[in-house]
Amino acid sequence: MFEDMELDRGLRLGLENLGLETPTPVQAAAVPALIAGSDLRISAQTGSGKTLAYLLPALQRILAEPASRKSGALAVVLVPTRELARQVLKNCRDLAAKTPLNAMALTGGADFKYQKSELRKNPEVIIATPGRLLEHCEKGSADLASVRTLVLDEADRMLDMGFRDEVLQIAAFCPPERQVVLLSATLNHAGLGSVAQALLQQPQTINIDPPRSASEGIRHQHILADSPSHKDALLAALLQQQEFRRALVFANQRSIAERLANQLAGGELKTACLHGELTTEERKAVMTRFRDGRIQVLCASDLAARGLDVPDIDLVVNYDLPRSGDDYLHRTGRTGRAGAQGLAISLVGANEWNLMISIQRYLKLELERSAVPGLKARYQGPGKVKSSGKAVGPKKKKTDKTAAAKKKQRARDQKSRGKHRANVSADGFAPLTRARPKPAAGGNPDSESPGDK
Ligand code: AMP
Repeated sequence: MFEDMELDRGLRLGLENLGLETPTPVQAAAVPALIAGSDLRISAQTGSGKTLAYLLPALQRILAEPASRKSGALAVVLVPTRELARQVLKNCRDLAAKTPLNAMALTGGADFKYQKSELRKNPEVIIATPGRLLEHCEKGSADLASVRTLVLDEADRMLDMGFRDEVLQIAAFCPPERQVVLLSATLNHAGLGSVAQALLQQPQTINIDPPRSASEGIRHQHILADSPSHKDALLAALLQQQEFRRALVFANQRSIAERLANQLAGGELKTACLHGELTTEERKAVMTRFRDGRIQVLCASDLAARGLDVPDIDLVVNYDLPRSGDDYLHRTGRTGRAGAQGLAISLVGANEWNLMISIQRYLKLELERSAVPGLKARYQGPGKVKSSGKAVGPKKKKTDKTAAAKKKQRARDQKSRGKHRANVSADGFAPLTRARPKPAAGGNPDSESPGDK
């Protein structure tokens, strides 16, 4: 129980107002260790209660030893996206409502001068995306010299988005004795080790939610599909037949998410799309409408929907399969939160079969087969499978390429270089593409909700 933790009265009241009594496993493990001052590496997924796991102790440490009004920020939370910043800020304000502490968010897309004037009010807690905070540090408008706790939330995503240097530079603006908390969906992420080594001192590791396990409250299903138009029909039928309050539909590309939202908007359900072209205000408005029920279906790509915390999402549809098992967990982790029930349905074309097998094997999770009556796919899985469950590919033909034949082939390749090649295979699906290379610092692959300037 939170009652048994040594917490300030204001924080207890905040928890009471939020209706929270029992810590989640990650909170039970992290809060006492962080109050005691340890550095921590936490492997926790969205939905585990990870935000309060670091906010509670960070605020407690400030309240236990108040600083002078003139000192700068006392706790800094770095997050990869604006949406997550907004959400953490809300959690922080709710929690601190009965304390004298103030929090602000510093993210790209908002007015720099306005942020500067807000910083002059010396908020104790800053929740920021790395690019914008670093800019304030370099221009002298943010003072991190008194920071006691530095949190790197969704550190794996921050690194994926190219914020490594910014994170390290921001840490260098904090005093050496600051506490560092690093949270990540998986601690095996390449690149995380060197950041942890540079910033954390004798850290403890908390691995409550094994990173590869899916939340128990979620049913995972797949439905086979023949073509994009078949997927469109399946999606429309699912949204009609399933009972849900809020549904999230994921596509791998922004353009597809937009197309789906436009298509669905003609029906009875109120639908919107979350994408990077929206201004911060527009995005905020979409999320508010989704939260208060004026929108029932939100179509999004991974980056745009990153870190969203919307209660009661009971249905997640993967129109496209995500590119990795970790992305699958991130998407489906938005349902079945804090004990609620959820359903995750993936629409799987023939060209996605092997990817589905990889995701299942990686997550040790079975996506049970389902179907929509009247819309059963002709494709019913590969004819022959390997022991892994993956499709047996066509045998490569042996060709006896003589030097002359090779030369001819090279000449043909040369001729067609630069010509546009149709990106659609015979079955109407785009072929599997490789993951795009990581963007340079500050950049971001989908230009969705970048956390920088
Ligand atoms: P997070 O993992 O921080 O994104 O939190 C996921 C959801 O769990 C949020 O909606 C929180 O309000 C909720 N939550 C956090 N802590 C608790 C708790 N101790 N008991 C019940 N719900 C919680």
